[in-house]
Amino acid sequence: MFDPHDPLGIEDLLSPEDIAVRDTVRRWAADRVLPHIAQWYEAGELPGVRELARELGSIGALGMQLSGYGCAGASAVQYGLACLELEAADSGIRSLVSVQGSLAMYAIHRFGSEEQKRQWLPSMAAGETIGCFGLTEPDHGSDPAGMRTYAKRDGSDWVLTGRKMWITNGSVAGVAVVWARTDDGIRGFVVPTDSPGLSAPEIRHKWSLRASVTSELVLDEVRLPADAVLPEVTGLRGPLSCLSHARYGIVWGSMGAARTSFETALDYARTREQFGKPIGGFQLTQAKLADMAVELHKGILLAHHLGRRMDAGSLRPEQVSFGKLNNVREAIEICRTARTILGANGISLEYPVMRHATNLESVLTYEGTVEMHQLVLGKALTGLDAFR
Ligand SMILES: Cc1cc2nc3c(=O)[nH]c(=O)nc-3n(C[C@H](O)[C@H](O)[C@H](O)COP(=O)(O)OP(=O)(O)OC[C@H]3O[C@@H](n4cnc5c(N)ncnc54)[C@H](O)[C@@H]3O)c2cc1C
Repeated sequence: MFDPHDPLGIEDLLSPEDIAVRDTVRRWAADRVLPHIAQWYEAGELPGVRELARELGSIGALGMQLSGYGCAGASAVQYGLACLELEAADSGIRSLVSVQGSLAMYAIHRFGSEEQKRQWLPSMAAGETIGCFGLTEPDHGSDPAGMRTYAKRDGSDWVLTGRKMWITNGSVAGVAVVWARTDDGIRGFVVPTDSPGLSAPEIRHKWSLRASVTSELVLDEVRLPADAVLPEVTGLRGPLSCLSHARYGIVWGSMGAARTSFETALDYARTREQFGKPIGGFQLTQAKLADMAVELHKGILLAHHLGRRMDAGSLRPEQVSFGKLNNVREAIEICRTARTILGANGISLEYPVMRHATNLESVLTYEGTVEMHQLVLGKALTGLDAFR
């Protein structure tokens, strides 16, 4: 039988374990996020973020795909399903989880020393410690190679000075993974946020990701011991491989925002009447719904495909760029079209559609803008580098 919510039968691709993970996260988001999200969004805050983080830890959603050190050791597909369910509630909640697991924890898990892993990962997996990831600077976003934050040696210590911008979780983090220039190239540092000289003022007045903490990180001669550096990586390869991991989650997550918007529009189109019949009975509305469904389920299928490649160890960064470029671009289009179907109600916070659309403006920009992923693919297709 044709299922309007799963027209391609994608559910058949999932194992019972996949379905259990998906349903756990879906239930958590329905209980803990959906009843409050419009209010949080309107207020531009994420109250109780520490409690939310602990609850996310208790359902195994933090550093989900990592193994050992209290992490769930889930598959890439399961991690993706969790991202989709979280972002179906709000991109801000998915961002909290992505930054914690795919950026901060992943960096420590992949490039950290055994002592760093033991010190930080169990409490981060439990949501007791929130992490952030400082790469972007006020003058260096798409091109982080030009970063100015500098770590100089002083005896065996490191002293960090610089400014990071647009840092998710910054003001509520207990630990920051900060990327800085050194005499030997770019290195990553694990920085406790109570280190003297570090401050994290919150960035306000955002029109997107309003239920997400975004901050500056100001580092004013922050002194760190020799073992604060991530020992296993030098150069941009470090942050870029973390970003590739987080982008993979966005390939799935963006389809969550799109799914909620599509389903809201479908429901509305069936019940809202104009000219004597439901607006879903007009061909122009049906064309919108059909196109939205096609892009939504193609996107979910693409996410599955990339997930299976990641689980097989064969996923390439260019393929992640392919997925991020396509799925976020299509998700935002689905949300905008859904908004038109809702008419004036589409601009109201009573419905989730405009919230998702404005959230996706950030998702379109962070973890590599549309243009960056076009350039990655353009280079892979032509062999010609057009970044400079
Ligand atoms: C809500 C939010 C949360 C974020 N969280 C984090 C975080 O936790 N950690 C972190 O480190 N960063 C974070 N970021 C920062 C994000 O990664 C950057 O905003 C992003 O990399 C783009 O950098 P930029 O804003 O400086 O834009 P710019 O790099 O200045 O780009 C501006 C425009 O120019 C285009 N452009 C740039 N170069 C080229 C080129 N060669 N060819 C064609 N077009 C080009 C871009 O595509 C874009 O359209 C976050 C951002 C937001 C909005």
